[in-house]
Amino acid sequence: MKYVLGIDIGGTKIAVCIANEKGDILASDRFPSTKTYKEAIKKIADLAKKLLADQKMTVKDIAACGISAPGPLDVPNGLLLRSPNMPWGDKLPIQKDLTKALGIPAILENDANAGALAEWFFGCGKGKKNLIYMTMSTGVGGGVIAGGHLVQGHTGNACELGHIVLDIHGPMCNCGLRGCMEAYTGGKAVQQKMQAALKDHPDHAFFRLPCVEGKVENLNFRALLEGVRAQIPLALEWWEEYCVRMAQGLAAVITSFDPEVIVLGTTAYHAGDLLFKPLERLMPQFLWANYCRSTEIRLSALGLRIGELAGVSVAFNALYEKGLWKPKK
Ligand SMILES: [Zn+2]
Repeated sequence: MKYVLGIDIGGTKIAVCIANEKGDILASDRFPSTKTYKEAIKKIADLAKKLLADQKMTVKDIAACGISAPGPLDVPNGLLLRSPNMPWGDKLPIQKDLTKALGIPAILENDANAGALAEWFFGCGKGKKNLIYMTMSTGVGGGVIAGGHLVQGHTGNACELGHIVLDIHGPMCNCGLRGCMEAYTGGKAVQQKMQAALKDHPDHAFFRLPCVEGKVENLNFRALLEGVRAQIPLALEWWEEYCVRMAQGLAAVITSFDPEVIVLGTTAYHAGDLLFKPLERLMPQFLWANYCRSTEIRLSALGLRIGELAGVSVAFNALYEKGLWKPKK
């Protein structure tokens, strides 16, 4: 086993890193996302070559290259599709172009699946065969490891868990459906709901929270948590609905996959016990007792490091599926 290269495409930044077989990051650097796709490919290739040279390595030392990118993607064909957050264009053959530019076969995977792989190989999922990772920030995404393999589905779009519809009469989701889990628990949806409800009520207690500073634009997920801590009645009411919808969504996922552990990332980090305590109370209303006993709900062990490990985990998974690498237990 040699080394792996990981490329993490984000909305604002692109990172490149080299890891050894244990998942230790040996070298890593990033640059702000570029205006054009062509520029991004060139900059990624240049940075990868520079990092390799700094480590006195060549492409021959790299066993695989993984790319983690936000959806929508066409994973079987290695394409980036048009997205409101990534104004580069549609059907961009990133897998083929980076394979050519780097001289190493590159593999594309969506960032939520890549996060699930990272938690499986290096985080809470170590040594397990069934795990679910939920990324919850602006949107809600998920990745599933079942029976020791990443679930990709027929078109590579399996496990868009944030878009399980919980109520067809619910709020509009950014995807165009109504009442998705993301429409209740995504950071952007929470922010939109708070701002719409309070914009004409400048005297509301929410505006007196230190993090809000009296400004409508500061009403966001963080402000909701602060409102809950300050026991503002409306915050408590909204938070209860958030937790009920979270429990409902997680229960659907747990019932489908019967995982050993379900790992919550990002916003769960900021919420901590404010989220985990209500979930403990609410889950039995949505889930059979046997699942409640056998599935552990945990906070991501990797925290913010997950972004750095996402791309390399995609590379490790490609080697794992070929029998060329095994995660440590
Ligand atoms: Zn949706």
